[in-house]
Amino acid sequence: MDRAACERLDRECPLAHCRERFTLPDGVLYFDGNSLGALPKATAADIERLIRTEWGQGLVESWLDADWFFLARSTGDAIAPLIGASAGEVIVADSTSVNMFKLAAALLRRSEGRRRVVAERGNFPTVTYVLEGLVGLFGERFDLALADTAQIPGAIDERTALTALTHVNFRTGAMHDMARITAHCHAQGVPVIWDLSHSAGAVPLALNRWGVEYAVGCTYKFLNGGPGAPAYVYMAESAIAAHEPAVTGWFAHADQFGFEDRFRPAETIEKCLVGTPPVLSLRAVRHGIACFDGVTMEGIADKLRSLSDLLIRLVAERLADCGFVLATPRQPAARGSQVSFRHPHAYAVSKALRAENVVVDFRSPDILRFGIAPLYIRHVDVWDAADALARIMAGERWKAHVTDAPDPVT
Ligand SMILES: *Cc1c(COP(=O)(O)O)cnc(C)c1O
Repeated sequence: MDRAACERLDRECPLAHCRERFTLPDGVLYFDGNSLGALPKATAADIERLIRTEWGQGLVESWLDADWFFLARSTGDAIAPLIGASAGEVIVADSTSVNMFKLAAALLRRSEGRRRVVAERGNFPTVTYVLEGLVGLFGERFDLALADTAQIPGAIDERTALTALTHVNFRTGAMHDMARITAHCHAQGVPVIWDLSHSAGAVPLALNRWGVEYAVGCTYKFLNGGPGAPAYVYMAESAIAAHEPAVTGWFAHADQFGFEDRFRPAETIEKCLVGTPPVLSLRAVRHGIACFDGVTMEGIADKLRSLSDLLIRLVAERLADCGFVLATPRQPAARGSQVSFRHPHAYAVSKALRAENVVVDFRSPDILRFGIAPLYIRHVDVWDAADALARIMAGERWKAHVTDAPDPVT
């Protein structure tokens, strides 16, 4: 495989036109769409219009005239097909952490007799932190147990009150078998909340078909919603009626503008809202999702496989003696949308790559991550990134960064 072959693959790529939907800085190879998705071309002008016209001129009437009031729901409905859900099962609100709290609190409150809350060791820690906080809040009623990845789903049994799992591991990119684990949990009578932050917009998901009842996820990674964009809650239609919100606010009320003294939850997915939605950010999320128009998740998966296999192969061929150990599963079905390598100097290498305009990131303690966003990454980008990495290692340029103090954001 040479660079010309990569160019050929890009010319034949059915998703090639999607790159035009984004504003990407010249000369930058962007492998961090798993941390912050790229800026869709349509976003900036529309947000400016929203501010100047809808807010500036329309003022409060824009809640209805510009559909601000319905944006949390309509944006959820736009996300639904990307995750294999139906309209009315997804709503956009708050952050992923807060949504995890909202669902977990409600499910724990309903739990009877079981003590154990199971989280995954080494998982993205916000999930564990939220569960830890809740266990404290419920006093002596529950214990938090951390299970190793290899013990899942076995560690989830008839003693388990609740589990929350992340579909794709943020360090290694390893992907759980969501259908199989969900079936196991349900057979044990255990509600499971899935965190889709690293999978929505990255890998095909079939939440309805896999029997998933509860999920949360963020929109600023592969869904390109922008920094701090609000997250979403998914709840299967069959689970909505029994759900009693644990965090209650006026946006979840059955008759919001009736201003009743007591809370009565909406009967729809709106019961997962709490307060006023962040309209500016929600609108940006709409444009992020629109970048998937006309694209199937299977098409994304095909390109993802091709790009990831290429990177794995190039690093194996060109950097064989440089100390990189593949942390991501080789089988496409077992991994998400990133390729990670362990390296003793992963942080210094990540800094050296960024100095060459190859934007990757580092995850403690030793992970160099390449996020692969198939909507805008090309095969030549993978080639050029591997080439830059080979030059950095050959010239020992990473050594200049060994003593760098870690940045507050890596
Ligand atoms: C990025 C990410 C989050 C983000 O949580 P916020 O509360 O929205 O900041 C949560 N969970 C996982 C697994 C993530 O990767």
